[in-house]
Amino acid sequence: MKACVLIEPGRLECRDIEKPMPGAGEALVRVRAALTCGTDLKTFRRGHPMIPLPAVLGHEYSGVIEAVGPGVDGFKPGHAVMGVHSGPCGQCFFCARNQPQLCETIMDSKALGSFAEFMLLPEVVVKNNLFHKPDSVSFEHAALLEPLACAVHGVRSAMNGDGKIPAVHGVRSAMNGVGTTTAVHGVKSARSALEKVLVIGAGPIGLLHLVLLKRMGARVIVSGRGKKRLDAALECGADHVIDAAVSDVRREALALTNERGADAVIECTGRPEVWEESVWLARRGGTVVLFGGCPAGTRVGFDAGRIHYDEITLKGVFHFSPGDVREARDIIIDGGIPFGAFISGEYPLSELSIALERLLRGDGVKFCIKP
Ligand SMILES: [Zn+2]
Ligand SMILES: [Zn+2]
Repeated sequence: MKACVLIEPGRLECRDIEKPMPGAGEALVRVRAALTCGTDLKTFRRGHPMIPLPAVLGHEYSGVIEAVGPGVDGFKPGHAVMGVHSGPCGQCFFCARNQPQLCETIMDSKALGSFAEFMLLPEVVVKNNLFHKPDSVSFEHAALLEPLACAVHGVRSAMNGDGKIPAVHGVRSAMNGVGTTTAVHGVKSARSALEKVLVIGAGPIGLLHLVLLKRMGARVIVSGRGKKRLDAALECGADHVIDAAVSDVRREALALTNERGADAVIECTGRPEVWEESVWLARRGGTVVLFGGCPAGTRVGFDAGRIHYDEITLKGVFHFSPGDVREARDIIIDGGIPFGAFISGEYPLSELSIALERLLRGDGVKFCIKP
């Protein structure tokens, strides 16, 4: 089968490699659409500690089942599917505590290789995180499932873990579950916990958070760099955009939130100086969701008084749970994503490097690769 192999950083080759055979519980998918992601770009540019080279990259996909191994129920050759690339074991310490995103084997089980004609999915994916794709959803749009699941997880974290992201625009009432009675303060909060949210970063992940927050009826400010990306944010419904290249983000964000700061700040850049700044952009009692990962070993500093006296919650988030994936699937099926803002163009497999080079130049949000 044809596959686009990353030989070393910056060097991709389209090669014929052996077509995998599904073992017990596994499924082989003929890839119909694969989307580029920030992780692919990072790996293309400088390699990745968890991806030994040479390797076939790509983990955002949709396609058609080509073959299944023994013991697979529910999927047969010819079925159109959408899925993510990892799944929890269901048995470890974290799975038992309903934190499947932290599953001890979640990274070992992950399937890479959607930039190829076929992709082999492991049993944990087939069992937990693979779904039938309805005809009403195109392969290109279905491939957005994985990044959307990440964003669902991020938004849920900003809501303290509960709450379902409403399926229709502008529904505030579904947030009522979050305004719970707190035993310590004895105050019943009458208002939605997320009225004004600041999303930092206007890349694909920042924009997906924006779309989900707008579905909940929040007012959303997006700060980011580059006119194209900020225009995409406006297209996705941002109430305000702040151009971080030319503006004082703190001053503008505070001015837009009655000098109080946002109920939640969602950091999607993964830059240490932005992590540090983000605690000044949340209101007292607000939450900062640290979505963008900094390299391991990075140190950041926060003002202790700000965190303590102003009750700022700092929330690290990683990956997603099967519940997040199902919710993302439902949102894609109900058509609630402005897909055009996310998919900037299409390339055949042999032109993957052109798509990645364009992304390196900041030209485009995601590209769809069609093997
Ligand atoms: Zn991704
Ligand atoms: Zn587990």
